[in-house]
Amino acid sequence: MIFRKDPKIKKLFLILTASLVLVGFLFVMNTMRLIAGFENSTGMASGDTYQGFIMGSIAAVIIIITINILLFLGMGKYLVHKLDYLSIAADKIMDGQYPVFMEDEEGILSRLESQFYQISRRMKLGFDDIRKEKENLHSLVTDISHQIKTPLSSIKVFNTLLIEGGLSPQEEEEFLGRAKEQIDKLEWLSDALIKISKMETGMIQLNMQRADIKKTIIEAVNEVYSRAMEKNVEIDMQDLQSIPVYHDIKWTREAIVNILENSIKYTADQGTVNVSMEKLETYIKINIRDNGIGIPPHEISKIFNRFYRGGAQKVVETEGSGIGLYLSRNLLEEQGGTIIASSPGEGQGSQFSILLTL
Ligand code: ADP
Repeated sequence: MIFRKDPKIKKLFLILTASLVLVGFLFVMNTMRLIAGFENSTGMASGDTYQGFIMGSIAAVIIIITINILLFLGMGKYLVHKLDYLSIAADKIMDGQYPVFMEDEEGILSRLESQFYQISRRMKLGFDDIRKEKENLHSLVTDISHQIKTPLSSIKVFNTLLIEGGLSPQEEEEFLGRAKEQIDKLEWLSDALIKISKMETGMIQLNMQRADIKKTIIEAVNEVYSRAMEKNVEIDMQDLQSIPVYHDIKWTREAIVNILENSIKYTADQGTVNVSMEKLETYIKINIRDNGIGIPPHEISKIFNRFYRGGAQKVVETEGSGIGLYLSRNLLEEQGGTIIASSPGEGQGSQFSILLTL
């Protein structure tokens, strides 16, 4: 019953009924008085006509009152039903469920319903974003602590051995050297993590300019040249043309350096790394190809994931954190470019193609 939903409806109903009864009563009384006055002035008297007219007026009043009451009850029921629905929906939203509203008729209540739906949809999207960000942050913290733990525990072991003493000068030198390697790794890791955090929070400032891409490539090659020499890996540059390309020199160089470093790392001594360039209609393609360990097909789609490292023996034995390709691809995508990896298979080399719009 609608009266139970809100006491004000009951009050309104009583006021409406009372006023309708009062108006009806006054109407009947006035009609009676009017007929009596008419009879007196004309001298006509017809009891049947008089009674019939009064009964007719009373019947009309009762019908009007009934119709009004029924209309009030019907409208009240409709309003209560709609408001009830919105109130249940509000409860659901507060419980973290987002109901689907049916937009049917026109009118203020349907508009209210549709606005309610928009609010609940926006809230849902907002909460989904917050939840995703929380999960992302959680996985980032877990990954970082995992990455930091390994070099830190190695440093701890070397330090304990050195403090305990009793080591030969050669052993001391070896442990100090290995501790330094781990400290360098921590330093590199912290730099990379700062870059990741800047990138993920949109804090990397790009300085886009139309500059010679050949110059950027050569600068990157120069940066890794000594590492390639140490391993006797030859870096062969072919068809490099001076083309003005709209790019951020610093971050593009960093992305190319990461890919070149991988090519040197994952290629055997005496191997070759090939750097070439293709100019296409709307973009240029920088190809970095090596004849190293290659990438198994099932890993191709994963290697750009944050902290992903391949499962091959050579990868496991080589220093790395699975950050380089993730950073490189993001740095290039920020500029409207990307990287594509391909490999004929394990042991058959890999190719990384950087695409930059002209
Ligand atoms: P990291 O080299 O530190 O492991 P990266 O993000 O640079 O991290 O690379 C991710 C993975 O991609 C590597 O662990 C390796 O399995 C694979 N990979 C990248 N470059 C090459 C390459 N030139 N040859 C073979 N595998 C590669």
